[in-house]
Amino acid sequence: MATQQFKAESKRLLDLMINSIYTNKEIFLRELISNASDAIDKSYYRSLVDQNISFNKDDFYIRITADKENRTLTIEDKGIGMTKEELENNLGTIAKSGSFAFKNEAEAKEGVDIIGQFGVGFYSAFMVSDMVTVKSKSIDSDKAYKWESKGAEGFDIEECSKETVGTEIILKIKENNEDEKFDEYLEEYRLKALIKKYSDFIKYPIKMLVKKSKLKEDSDKEYEDYLEDETLNSMVPIWRKNKNELKLEDYDQFYMDKHFGYEKPLKVIHASVEGAVSYNTLLFIPARTPYAFYSKEYEKGLELYSNGVLIMEKCAELLPDYFSFAQGLVDSADLSLNISRELLQQDRQLKFIAKKIKDKIKSELLLMLKNDREKYDQFYSNFGRQLKYGIYADFGANKEDLQDLIMFHSSTEKKLVSLDEYISRMKEDQKYIYYATGESIDRIEKLPQTEMIKDKGFEILYFTDDVDEFAIKMLMKYKEKEFKSVSSGDLGFENNEEDSKKDTEENKDLFEFMKDALGGKVKEVKASKRLKTHPVCLANQGDLSIEMEKVLSMMPD
Ligand code: ADP
Ligand code: MG
Repeated sequence: MATQQFKAESKRLLDLMINSIYTNKEIFLRELISNASDAIDKSYYRSLVDQNISFNKDDFYIRITADKENRTLTIEDKGIGMTKEELENNLGTIAKSGSFAFKNEAEAKEGVDIIGQFGVGFYSAFMVSDMVTVKSKSIDSDKAYKWESKGAEGFDIEECSKETVGTEIILKIKENNEDEKFDEYLEEYRLKALIKKYSDFIKYPIKMLVKKSKLKEDSDKEYEDYLEDETLNSMVPIWRKNKNELKLEDYDQFYMDKHFGYEKPLKVIHASVEGAVSYNTLLFIPARTPYAFYSKEYEKGLELYSNGVLIMEKCAELLPDYFSFAQGLVDSADLSLNISRELLQQDRQLKFIAKKIKDKIKSELLLMLKNDREKYDQFYSNFGRQLKYGIYADFGANKEDLQDLIMFHSSTEKKLVSLDEYISRMKEDQKYIYYATGESIDRIEKLPQTEMIKDKGFEILYFTDDVDEFAIKMLMKYKEKEFKSVSSGDLGFENNEEDSKKDTEENKDLFEFMKDALGGKVKEVKASKRLKTHPVCLANQGDLSIEMEKVLSMMPD
């Protein structure tokens, strides 16, 4: 029988894959295992709806076999199988992929990692093999067929013998060459690691005969090798387990096993959501600031799983920048496995999940602020700056979400307080939320401008971070109370401005002289009634405080 040609799109894609260098060849195994798992699912459902079909629970597994001598890797399932027509149609055409249209060959030649981003399922096998053989017997047929292809030229189908219903995919692994290594895909350790990484939560056992060694009988030092069937995946992911079955230690262990961090996380958030879009999420707030967190190098994102299968290691779309410290994962059956980064950005389901996750992190942080202040203080010392940047960024678009979470040092409480706490302590005749800006708490403490406000018994927030005042300027108000710098002209209470004006008039010559003596370092010298124990203080004019001006003048143009 003449070799059949692949459908046009498939041929282009195959060319593209085979002729380009991909960093992510390893995902082929994930794809083939997922297909096997799907095939078992399908046959299970068939047995539920069709009385003539029985299903043997012992067939619920996927077998991986590596044969180094023949350089073959086999993935086998006893799932639904494929008829001749199905082999032709399912493995001969690729669904019109939106993601494919996004990319062109030019991009691919520059080494853009296409496959890893949208997965092309079965075809990814050609990234590591010169020849792929598929032997399959459908649940609906007595005959078995063999589909074989060496890549872009096309494929052959012929009848073959196969006893059990199901599919066997045999990959002839490529030889190593100067640029790329393929031998590793025949190595037990590598296959084990790949299964752990991508397919750990496939719900059927993934089995492999693995080499073990034991003491020889009648010997106390000689060992012999033997093969033992081992299940390589853990199957039920921790995030799908019931919360009641889990202890904090289980989460901590998972966190460290997955290398999210070396020490226990500060906070674990586990949520299962059923609804328009269903998903499970396991989120962590680290106990320390991650390496390079406050730099461009830091990459935010959560792991994204589709039904237990990892599809992306860092999905940035799931987290807003101001919560970029969150780690963890999202698993949803409502997302497709073959999804591209471009499609992901527009994906409505994903946007929906991202919004829910943002709300969840926020509400958990608010609870922590209220109920576990020590923990919140630790969180805030690591990530508080990020929250304040978040208020300032995007023209204040997220200020509503963040204003309840920020804290500043308080003149009266001598610790960090939230804006809500400040408001709750405001005096009856107090109009504004007062703040003072400076390099350190000590320095602010000594500012002459703070004396009068302190005398009135009003609390002052101390701003020591560059971003503080910018964030506050973006907020403008908190619960209808305006923010007021201690160095601003109108402090909202009687402070004898009129008298000051009169004094300034009367001492005009002296002040002119002082201004000249300072050689242009100040714009004006005025009398003030604000001072108590200090002879003099600096004040700013207009909206920008002295500190803000300093920050702005340090920024590159
Ligand atoms: P997808 O899994 O997204 O549909 P793939 O390229 O991975 O795309 O697979 C194409 C099709 O080939 C599958 O939809 C399925 O119908 C068929 N197929 C692949 N592997 C198997 C298998 N092990 N058993 C039965 N059918 C399979
Ligand atoms: Mg698939």
